[in-house]
Amino acid sequence: MTPLKDHFIKRIEAAGPMTLAAYMGECLMHPAHGYYQQQAVFGAEGDFTTAPEVSQMFGEMIGLWLADRWTKMDRPNPVNLIELGPGRGTLMADILRAVSPVEDFSAALQVHFVEASTQLRAAQAEKVPNAQWHDTLAHVPEGPSLIIANEFFDALPIHQYEKTGGKWVERMVGCIDGDLAMVGGPCGPQFSLIDEAIKAGPEGSIAEACPAALSIIGDISERLNTHGGAALVVDYGYRKTAAGDTFQAMQKHAYVDPFTAPGEADLTAHVNFELLKAAATEKGLRAFGPAMQGMFLMAIGLGARAQVLAGQGDEAFSASILSDLKRLTAIDQMGTLFKVLALQPHELAPPPGF
Ligand code: SAH
Repeated sequence: MTPLKDHFIKRIEAAGPMTLAAYMGECLMHPAHGYYQQQAVFGAEGDFTTAPEVSQMFGEMIGLWLADRWTKMDRPNPVNLIELGPGRGTLMADILRAVSPVEDFSAALQVHFVEASTQLRAAQAEKVPNAQWHDTLAHVPEGPSLIIANEFFDALPIHQYEKTGGKWVERMVGCIDGDLAMVGGPCGPQFSLIDEAIKAGPEGSIAEACPAALSIIGDISERLNTHGGAALVVDYGYRKTAAGDTFQAMQKHAYVDPFTAPGEADLTAHVNFELLKAAATEKGLRAFGPAMQGMFLMAIGLGARAQVLAGQGDEAFSASILSDLKRLTAIDQMGTLFKVLALQPHELAPPPGF
């Protein structure tokens, strides 16, 4: 039994079931035993591989996209370059390398990381020593901001609800026969975030709400409305609000039961891009996308970049570049499951890639 499992069982036996959001949040971020406090969660030996860990080309293309935004913003100096949930710092290191020829931009930017894990902060510091770290976006200094988030929103805790016997109940984590199990409870206040059409759905429907995502979109909107800038959100998720259970646990590149080894498996949920977009446009921002990751990357020049890189090495090297290109863009790989959403004030020229 993992230390967190023991802790949850004792607590549930004493105080009753907990919401899925509380469970997910603690599994990921418990200060001692949370998933993101452990080493080696990313990459081939870890539990999952993200786009920046697949290829340097991902960060390079995003760097050029950001440099374009900065130019269209009339080149503010200084400008905040903010990354939410930077993982190992790979994406930012690739971005910084790609934009280094744009000397004025490189000189103007101040890197801010919003990161909850102390272990990952240490890994990030090795790759990007000049960054500044913050617990939340609200703590980043005010000013024009370019914001990037790759596979960050899928890690934010969700609530789940189920329609059973004609009524909605909240899916809670309880204890049955001494083991963790999903149980029903009264719906908490976040149930108000669920769409009316979903609520009217058939028996057995499952609905999800991610209040943390909406609150972060609110913070992004306020910042961009006040100081200007642009945000790019990349994640796996769906374009239109729909019912369904997207909560998943992953360990060593395979799906596992989310209750077997809390703290040792990555827990995520698919991102509802329709809701993120609606939250941002309600606050006065203009949204572009969500575009499919593959289409977005090709539209901003990934194909050409891959060709240049592939020409710089031997046959095995160019084959590996082409295989990375495929992994990032093919419809049966990351190309369509992953979506890209850009947010910015109305006055800024439309971004490339959409
Ligand atoms: N962007 C990286 C890592 C994705 S994993 C990549 O693409 O490789 C999710 C990241 O978000 C981790 O760095 C994790 O520690 C961080 N994270 C998750 N929830 C967070 C929260 N609520 N606040 C701040 N950081 C969080």
